[in-house]
Amino acid sequence: MARISISTYFFVLPDLFFVNAQHQIHQLDSLFICPQFMLVLEIKNIHGRLEFDHRTHQCIRTKVDGTVEGFPNALTQVQRHMRFLSGLTTHYSLSIEGAVVIANPSTIITHSANTCIPIFHRSGLHAHLHSLFQKHPQRLLSDHQLRQLVQELQRKQQPTEMPMTIAPSRLRHGVLCPKCMYQNCMHFDRGIWKCSYCHYRSREIFAEALQDYRLLISRTITNQQLRAFFYIHSSDAATRLLRKFQFPYSGTYKNRVYHLPVNLVDYMKEFF
Ligand SMILES: [Zn+2]
Repeated sequence: MARISISTYFFVLPDLFFVNAQHQIHQLDSLFICPQFMLVLEIKNIHGRLEFDHRTHQCIRTKVDGTVEGFPNALTQVQRHMRFLSGLTTHYSLSIEGAVVIANPSTIITHSANTCIPIFHRSGLHAHLHSLFQKHPQRLLSDHQLRQLVQELQRKQQPTEMPMTIAPSRLRHGVLCPKCMYQNCMHFDRGIWKCSYCHYRSREIFAEALQDYRLLISRTITNQQLRAFFYIHSSDAATRLLRKFQFPYSGTYKNRVYHLPVNLVDYMKEFF
């Protein structure tokens, strides 16, 4: 995220997770709050050529090799979060703004002209914040009220993890084959997961399996835990697999702990 040199009191709340009255999830990548306005930021780490279609509400990514893929439209997501947030903060008269930030500098952004939510590269965040301070010059909250609002939002958050009620040893280990209704375990062979029953092969299935691991077992994983849980025999293969996804990590080489991001399936999509 760009450094912000603004002489005002502000908060940046990352990874906010709410559930609305209809039991739908609102997962905000980042929320900037200052006494003048709030800014909902949807951060996308997608490479290639991105096209945002306002009419069809679709985001289409074209990779360098020409593969075309659809993503949930970030613009629609931001607008949805803004509406939700506006309901949540009715006692505060702050305007709610939204933007889509593309974290990958090489991504080419194309979109239809009539998008009402700005889309820009990370480097444009600073300039965008300045334009918002010009648009909303008036301080509407005291520092105390601002802190109160932040605390209120944090209190209204839902825990993102499922409560752990079963011991990890009772859970089925491995990458389970979706074509066999998750009955059979797939084996890892030179970067590909293979089912020996139905011969289904997939690289991407690992993202789902690791997401389940994150939800049910732990938000972090080590090389040893990866091998034990997913039945990977080679330590080198496990290291290659963990490095491929560039997970943030802590610790030295031997005791390295990899931190699994919240939106794991979305996050890992980039690296397959
Ligand atoms: Zn199978």
